[in-house]
Amino acid sequence: VIPSTVDYVRPGSIEDALAELGAEDAKAIAGGHSLVPMMKLRLARPSRLVDLSALPLRGTTVEGDTIRIGALTTYDELLSRSDLPLPDTLRECAAAVGDVQVRNAGTIGGAIAHGDPASDFAAGVLATEATLVLQSLSGTREIAADAFFLGPFTTALEQQELLIELKIPVPERGEGSAYVSFADPASGYPLAGAAVRVRADGRQTIGLTGVAGRPLRIDGVADVAALDFSLHDDPDHRRQLAVVAVERAIDLARQRAGS
Ligand SMILES: Cc1cc2nc3c(=O)[nH]c(=O)nc-3n(C[C@H](O)[C@H](O)[C@H](O)COP(=O)(O)OP(=O)(O)OC[C@H]3O[C@@H](n4cnc5c(N)ncnc54)[C@H](O)[C@@H]3O)c2cc1C
Repeated sequence: VIPSTVDYVRPGSIEDALAELGAEDAKAIAGGHSLVPMMKLRLARPSRLVDLSALPLRGTTVEGDTIRIGALTTYDELLSRSDLPLPDTLRECAAAVGDVQVRNAGTIGGAIAHGDPASDFAAGVLATEATLVLQSLSGTREIAADAFFLGPFTTALEQQELLIELKIPVPERGEGSAYVSFADPASGYPLAGAAVRVRADGRQTIGLTGVAGRPLRIDGVADVAALDFSLHDDPDHRRQLAVVAVERAIDLARQRAGS
Protein backbone atom coordinates (compact mmCIF):
# COMPACT_ATOMS: atom_id res chain seq x y z
CA VAL A 1 0.00 0.00 0.00
CA ILE A 2 1.48 3.34 -1.03
CA PRO A 3 0.60 6.73 0.43
CA SER A 4 -0.12 9.65 -1.88
CA THR A 5 2.65 12.14 -2.68
CA VAL A 6 3.67 14.38 0.16
CA ASP A 7 6.17 17.20 0.85
CA TYR A 8 8.58 16.75 3.72
CA VAL A 9 10.28 19.31 5.95
CA ARG A 10 12.34 18.88 9.13
CA PRO A 11 12.44 22.21 10.94
CA GLY A 12 14.99 22.85 13.70
CA SER A 13 12.88 25.04 15.97
CA ILE A 14 9.37 24.92 17.40
CA GLU A 15 8.58 28.32 15.82
CA ASP A 16 9.61 27.07 12.36
CA ALA A 17 7.59 23.88 12.84
CA LEU A 18 4.50 25.91 13.77
CA ALA A 19 4.96 28.12 10.71
CA GLU A 20 5.27 25.05 8.46
CA LEU A 21 2.02 23.68 9.91
CA GLY A 22 0.31 26.74 8.41
CA ALA A 23 0.49 25.14 4.94
CA GLU A 24 -2.80 23.66 3.78
CA ASP A 25 -3.25 20.06 5.00
CA ALA A 26 0.17 20.02 6.67
CA LYS A 27 0.60 17.48 9.44
CA ALA A 28 3.17 16.95 12.17
CA ILE A 29 4.95 13.62 12.29
CA ALA A 30 6.87 12.31 15.30
CA GLY A 31 7.55 8.54 15.43
CA GLY A 32 5.17 7.97 12.51
CA HIS A 33 3.75 4.80 14.04
CA SER A 34 0.15 5.98 13.88
CA LEU A 35 0.32 8.51 11.05
CA VAL A 36 2.19 6.41 8.46
CA PRO A 37 -0.24 3.45 8.69
CA MET A 38 -3.12 5.92 8.24
CA MET A 39 -1.38 7.46 5.22
CA LYS A 40 -0.83 4.04 3.69
CA LEU A 41 -4.54 3.37 4.00
CA ARG A 42 -5.15 6.91 2.71
CA LEU A 43 -7.21 7.66 5.78
CA ALA A 44 -4.82 10.60 6.18
CA ARG A 45 -3.60 12.47 3.08
CA PRO A 46 -1.45 15.35 4.30
CA SER A 47 0.13 17.61 1.65
CA ARG A 48 3.20 18.24 3.83
CA LEU A 49 4.80 16.31 6.65
CA VAL A 50 6.44 18.46 9.31
CA ASP A 51 8.94 16.14 10.97
CA LEU A 52 9.29 17.06 14.65
CA SER A 53 12.30 14.85 15.31
CA ALA A 54 14.86 17.70 15.35
CA LEU A 55 12.95 19.72 17.97
CA PRO A 56 14.28 19.93 21.54
CA LEU A 57 11.27 18.11 23.01
CA ARG A 58 12.86 14.85 24.15
CA GLY A 59 13.57 13.83 27.73
CA THR A 60 12.05 13.74 31.17
CA THR A 61 12.85 15.83 34.25
CA VAL A 62 11.45 16.19 37.75
CA GLU A 63 10.84 19.68 39.08
CA GLY A 64 9.42 19.87 42.58
CA ASP A 65 6.23 17.80 42.58
CA THR A 66 5.96 17.62 38.78
CA ILE A 67 7.35 15.13 36.27
CA ARG A 68 7.84 16.86 32.91
CA ILE A 69 7.83 14.55 29.89
CA GLY A 70 8.90 16.09 26.57
CA ALA A 71 6.51 15.22 23.74
CA LEU A 72 9.20 13.46 21.68
CA THR A 73 10.17 11.11 24.49
CA THR A 74 9.57 7.53 23.36
CA TYR A 75 7.82 4.91 25.45
CA ASP A 76 11.12 3.05 25.69
CA GLU A 77 13.02 6.12 26.93
CA LEU A 78 10.40 6.65 29.60
CA LEU A 79 10.44 3.00 30.68
CA SER A 80 14.24 2.95 30.86
CA ARG A 81 14.23 5.77 33.45
CA SER A 82 13.90 3.68 36.61
CA ASP A 83 15.14 6.72 38.59
CA LEU A 84 11.91 8.63 37.91
CA PRO A 85 9.09 8.70 40.48
CA LEU A 86 6.71 7.75 37.68
CA PRO A 87 3.27 6.60 38.91
CA ASP A 88 2.92 2.81 38.52
CA THR A 89 -0.12 3.26 36.31
CA LEU A 90 1.83 5.27 33.71
CA ARG A 91 4.71 2.82 33.68
CA GLU A 92 2.21 -0.01 33.18
CA CYS A 93 0.35 1.87 30.42
CA ALA A 94 3.62 2.45 28.53
CA ALA A 95 4.69 -1.18 28.97
CA ALA A 96 1.32 -2.37 27.61
CA VAL A 97 1.82 -0.60 24.26
CA GLY A 98 2.47 -2.73 21.17
CA ASP A 99 5.84 -4.42 20.91
CA VAL A 100 9.44 -3.38 21.35
CA GLN A 101 9.62 -1.69 17.92
CA VAL A 102 6.55 0.43 18.61
CA ARG A 103 7.84 1.41 22.05
CA ASN A 104 11.23 2.32 20.55
CA ALA A 105 9.82 4.68 17.94
CA GLY A 106 6.39 5.75 19.20
CA THR A 107 6.42 8.99 21.17
CA ILE A 108 4.40 9.94 24.22
CA GLY A 109 3.33 13.18 22.49
CA GLY A 110 2.22 11.29 19.38
CA ALA A 111 0.25 8.81 21.47
CA ILE A 112 -1.72 11.62 23.11
CA ALA A 113 -2.03 13.98 20.12
CA HIS A 114 -3.38 11.15 17.94
CA GLY A 115 -6.50 10.95 20.12
CA ASP A 116 -6.90 7.20 19.62
CA PRO A 117 -9.94 6.06 21.64
CA ALA A 118 -7.97 2.89 22.52
CA SER A 119 -4.65 4.48 23.53
CA ASP A 120 -3.16 2.74 26.57
CA PHE A 121 -1.17 5.78 27.66
CA ALA A 122 -4.18 8.12 27.48
CA ALA A 123 -5.81 6.17 30.30
CA GLY A 124 -2.84 6.84 32.59
CA VAL A 125 -2.70 10.49 31.63
CA LEU A 126 -6.37 10.86 32.62
CA ALA A 127 -6.01 8.93 35.88
CA THR A 128 -3.00 10.92 37.02
CA GLU A 129 -4.74 14.21 36.13
CA ALA A 130 -1.88 15.25 33.89
CA THR A 131 -1.63 18.70 32.39
CA LEU A 132 -0.77 19.01 28.70
CA VAL A 133 1.30 21.94 27.47
CA LEU A 134 0.44 23.14 23.96
CA GLN A 135 2.34 25.73 21.95
CA SER A 136 1.15 27.86 19.04
CA LEU A 137 2.54 30.98 17.37
CA SER A 138 0.75 33.08 19.99
CA GLY A 139 2.35 31.33 22.97
CA THR A 140 1.72 28.34 25.23
CA ARG A 141 -1.42 27.17 26.99
CA GLU A 142 -2.05 24.40 29.46
CA ILE A 143 -5.03 22.08 29.32
CA ALA A 144 -6.16 19.33 31.67
CA ALA A 145 -6.00 15.86 30.09
CA ASP A 146 -9.70 15.50 30.83
CA ALA A 147 -10.52 18.43 28.52
CA PHE A 148 -8.17 17.33 25.71
CA PHE A 149 -9.82 14.24 24.22
CA LEU A 150 -12.95 15.33 22.33
CA GLY A 151 -13.89 12.33 20.18
CA PRO A 152 -12.42 9.60 17.97
CA PHE A 153 -9.02 10.94 16.79
CA THR A 154 -10.18 14.43 17.72
CA THR A 155 -8.47 16.55 20.36
CA ALA A 156 -8.32 20.15 21.54
CA LEU A 157 -5.18 20.74 19.41
CA GLU A 158 -5.48 23.48 16.78
CA GLN A 159 -3.96 23.02 13.30
CA GLN A 160 -0.99 25.29 14.06
CA GLU A 161 -0.38 24.00 17.55
CA LEU A 162 1.94 21.36 19.00
CA LEU A 163 1.80 19.29 22.15
CA ILE A 164 5.19 20.04 23.65
CA GLU A 165 5.10 18.56 27.13
CA LEU A 166 3.12 16.50 29.64
CA LYS A 167 3.15 17.47 33.32
CA ILE A 168 2.46 14.56 35.65
CA PRO A 169 2.08 15.02 39.42
CA VAL A 170 4.71 13.12 41.42
CA PRO A 171 2.81 10.46 43.43
CA GLU A 172 1.85 11.74 46.89
CA ARG A 173 2.71 9.94 50.07
CA GLY A 174 0.26 7.08 50.62
CA GLU A 175 -1.17 7.01 47.10
CA GLY A 176 -1.25 3.96 44.83
CA SER A 177 -1.98 3.48 41.15
CA ALA A 178 -2.35 0.69 38.60
CA TYR A 179 -3.31 -0.09 35.01
CA VAL A 180 -5.24 -3.21 34.07
CA SER A 181 -6.21 -3.96 30.48
CA PHE A 182 -7.52 -6.73 28.29
CA ALA A 183 -5.61 -6.54 25.02
CA ASP A 184 -7.03 -7.62 21.69
CA PRO A 185 -4.92 -10.69 20.84
CA ALA A 186 -4.63 -9.62 17.19
CA SER A 187 -3.82 -5.91 17.45
CA GLY A 188 -2.49 -5.63 21.00
CA TYR A 189 -4.68 -2.56 21.58
CA PRO A 190 -6.85 -2.63 24.70
CA LEU A 191 -10.41 -3.91 24.33
CA ALA A 192 -10.82 -2.28 27.73
CA GLY A 193 -8.17 -0.66 29.88
CA ALA A 194 -8.50 1.10 33.24
CA ALA A 195 -5.89 3.28 34.89
CA VAL A 196 -6.61 4.12 38.52
CA ARG A 197 -5.02 6.49 41.01
CA VAL A 198 -6.07 6.19 44.65
CA ARG A 199 -4.98 8.92 47.08
CA ALA A 200 -4.19 8.45 50.75
CA ASP A 201 -7.60 9.93 51.67
CA GLY A 202 -9.38 7.36 49.45
CA ARG A 203 -10.23 9.69 46.56
CA GLN A 204 -9.81 7.92 43.23
CA THR A 205 -9.47 9.03 39.62
CA ILE A 206 -9.93 6.61 36.73
CA GLY A 207 -9.01 6.77 33.06
CA LEU A 208 -10.88 4.33 30.81
CA THR A 209 -9.72 3.44 27.30
CA GLY A 210 -10.79 1.17 24.46
CA VAL A 211 -14.50 1.23 25.19
CA ALA A 212 -15.90 4.65 24.23
CA GLY A 213 -15.40 7.12 21.37
CA ARG A 214 -12.55 8.72 23.31
CA PRO A 215 -10.41 7.96 26.33
CA LEU A 216 -12.62 8.95 29.26
CA ARG A 217 -12.24 10.03 32.84
CA ILE A 218 -14.76 8.26 35.09
CA ASP A 219 -15.34 8.14 38.85
CA GLY A 220 -16.17 4.48 39.43
CA VAL A 221 -17.64 1.21 38.16
CA ALA A 222 -21.15 2.71 38.15
CA ASP A 223 -20.09 5.08 35.34
CA VAL A 224 -19.16 2.10 33.12
CA ALA A 225 -22.72 0.79 33.27
CA ALA A 226 -23.99 4.14 31.98
CA LEU A 227 -21.79 4.12 28.85
CA ASP A 228 -23.14 3.36 25.38
CA PHE A 229 -21.60 0.08 24.20
CA SER A 230 -23.80 -0.27 21.13
CA LEU A 231 -20.91 0.55 18.74
CA HIS A 232 -19.22 -2.72 19.70
CA ASP A 233 -19.96 -6.12 18.09
CA ASP A 234 -20.56 -7.65 21.48
CA PRO A 235 -21.74 -4.88 23.83
CA ASP A 236 -22.32 -7.10 26.88
CA HIS A 237 -18.92 -8.74 26.63
CA ARG A 238 -17.21 -5.38 26.21
CA ARG A 239 -19.08 -3.90 29.15
CA GLN A 240 -18.07 -6.87 31.29
CA LEU A 241 -14.40 -6.47 30.31
CA ALA A 242 -14.54 -2.77 31.21
CA VAL A 243 -16.13 -3.48 34.59
CA VAL A 244 -13.56 -6.13 35.46
CA ALA A 245 -10.65 -3.94 34.31
CA VAL A 246 -11.88 -1.08 36.51
CA GLU A 247 -12.49 -3.32 39.52
CA ARG A 248 -9.10 -5.02 39.28
CA ALA A 249 -7.24 -1.75 38.77
CA ILE A 250 -8.98 -0.23 41.81
CA ASP A 251 -8.07 -3.27 43.94
CA LEU A 252 -4.45 -3.18 42.84
CA ALA A 253 -4.13 0.58 43.32
CA ARG A 254 -5.64 0.28 46.84
CA GLN A 255 -3.24 -2.53 47.75
CA ARG A 256 -0.31 -0.41 46.58
CA ALA A 257 -1.64 2.64 48.43
CA GLY A 258 -1.77 0.61 51.62
CA SER A 259 1.66 -0.95 51.27
C1 LIG B 1 2.04 -2.30 15.28
C2 LIG B 1 1.53 -1.25 16.24
C3 LIG B 1 0.99 -1.65 17.45
C4 LIG B 1 0.52 -0.69 18.36
N1 LIG B 1 -0.02 -1.11 19.54
C5 LIG B 1 -0.49 -0.19 20.41
C6 LIG B 1 -1.05 -0.60 21.66
O1 LIG B 1 -1.09 -1.79 22.00
N2 LIG B 1 -1.51 0.37 22.48
C7 LIG B 1 -1.44 1.70 22.17
O2 LIG B 1 -1.87 2.53 22.96
N3 LIG B 1 -0.91 2.11 21.01
C8 LIG B 1 -0.43 1.20 20.14
N4 LIG B 1 0.11 1.61 18.95
C9 LIG B 1 0.11 3.04 18.64
C10 LIG B 1 1.35 3.75 19.16
O3 LIG B 1 1.23 3.89 20.56
C11 LIG B 1 1.36 5.09 18.50
O4 LIG B 1 1.50 4.84 17.12
C12 LIG B 1 2.46 6.00 18.88
O5 LIG B 1 2.60 6.22 20.23
C13 LIG B 1 2.19 7.34 18.25
O6 LIG B 1 3.32 8.12 18.41
P1 LIG B 1 4.14 8.55 17.13
O7 LIG B 1 5.27 9.36 17.66
O8 LIG B 1 4.48 7.38 16.29
O9 LIG B 1 3.06 9.48 16.42
P2 LIG B 1 2.87 9.83 14.86
O10 LIG B 1 2.36 8.64 14.14
O11 LIG B 1 4.09 10.50 14.35
O12 LIG B 1 1.72 10.92 14.99
C14 LIG B 1 0.41 10.56 15.41
C15 LIG B 1 -0.49 11.79 15.33
O13 LIG B 1 -0.14 12.74 16.32
C16 LIG B 1 0.26 13.97 15.72
N5 LIG B 1 1.41 14.41 16.51
C17 LIG B 1 2.50 13.67 16.85
N6 LIG B 1 3.27 14.36 17.71
C18 LIG B 1 2.66 15.54 17.92
C19 LIG B 1 2.95 16.67 18.74
N7 LIG B 1 4.02 16.71 19.53
N8 LIG B 1 2.09 17.73 18.72
C20 LIG B 1 0.99 17.70 17.95
N9 LIG B 1 0.65 16.64 17.16
C21 LIG B 1 1.47 15.59 17.16
C22 LIG B 1 0.55 13.68 14.26
O14 LIG B 1 0.28 14.80 13.45
C23 LIG B 1 -0.42 12.54 13.99
O15 LIG B 1 -1.71 13.07 13.74
C24 LIG B 1 0.59 0.70 18.03
C25 LIG B 1 1.15 1.10 16.80
C26 LIG B 1 1.63 0.14 15.91
C27 LIG B 1 2.23 0.59 14.61
